[in-house]
Amino acid sequence: MALRSIRKVGDPVLTKHSKEVRKMTPRLEELVDDMLDTMYEAGGVGLAAPQVGILKRIVVVDVSPEQDDPYILVDPQIIETSGEQTGYEGCLSLPGKSGVVKRPEYVKVLAFDRNMKEVEYEGQDLLARAFCHEIDHLDGKMYTEMMEGDLIDNSELAEMQEQAEREAQEAQGTHEEETHTI
Ligand SMILES: [Zn+2]
Repeated sequence: MALRSIRKVGDPVLTKHSKEVRKMTPRLEELVDDMLDTMYEAGGVGLAAPQVGILKRIVVVDVSPEQDDPYILVDPQIIETSGEQTGYEGCLSLPGKSGVVKRPEYVKVLAFDRNMKEVEYEGQDLLARAFCHEIDHLDGKMYTEMMEGDLIDNSELAEMQEQAEREAQEAQGTHEEETHTI
């Protein structure tokens, strides 16, 4: 296992379509392990193979608080969506920034696991958002293409969050501005 370098916005690899895997190989297994290490090290909740420069349809996602419950998706397809969620999201290929993106509230994904066994996963909230975000990477799409409004610095977002918390305390209500780097 090893860390791979994460490609940043402007790298043409991030705009390309990735190829189907169909058959797992020792080299691709090593890629999966490296992607998990790289995602955890970078503090993200998802990573797609093109983000480490490999144009293969593989993504890893882990939204668990302990970061010990990864989903490994090979040749994933979204087969069902419902509802809508609007919120901030970020990307390891665009560090320190976030933008507002509308995503389905629920998605069902058909994929293969690392043993090429067919699997079906359901995701809601952040997990649904992460599945959509990573699968978009396999088609060369960044969240900034479907963003509402402008990119914002995460430091600015943190300030907004603090401000909102202060106001919420005063108003005895709740309000949250949160982002996740996917
Ligand atoms: Zn991303």
